[in-house]
Amino acid sequence: MFPVAQTWLVRQGNSDLRRHGIFTWTLPAWVVTLPSGTSMNVCPSAGICAQLCFARQGTYRFSNVRAAHMGDLLLTVDDALPRFEEMMSEELQHRRYRGRFVRLHDAGDFHSRAYLKAWLRIMDSAPEDVSFYCYTKEVCL
Ligand code: SF4
Repeated sequence: MFPVAQTWLVRQGNSDLRRHGIFTWTLPAWVVTLPSGTSMNVCPSAGICAQLCFARQGTYRFSNVRAAHMGDLLLTVDDALPRFEEMMSEELQHRRYRGRFVRLHDAGDFHSRAYLKAWLRIMDSAPEDVSFYCYTKEVCL
């Protein structure tokens, strides 16, 4: 029997980021429609940046890319969030992240206080030589 290929939550970034050993965790940018039909603002504090947003153009609009980002977003909302925290915490123990950087939100942002707190716990539980960084508009969550 062949081993099942590992599916990573955190992906390799573009070629520039890859060269620097940076992985990325990305959500859809700004307002999206969830499969339930409700809309959600993934960047609640976005202002003018939403009009110029790089992540609402180009390859980010490819259907496979949008589907992947939507799938990741769905892991972080409502009842799914505790399981996301568990899975992400477990994944970040893997040796591929040792000595590397993880960039949160190539697109998207901390869309809720609960999601932000989950990430703070995830980062706290990661090995010390895994580093995280992000850009955010959410200074007051
Ligand atoms: S916060 Fe970032 S991802 Fe969100 S709309 Fe602004 S530029 Fe785009």
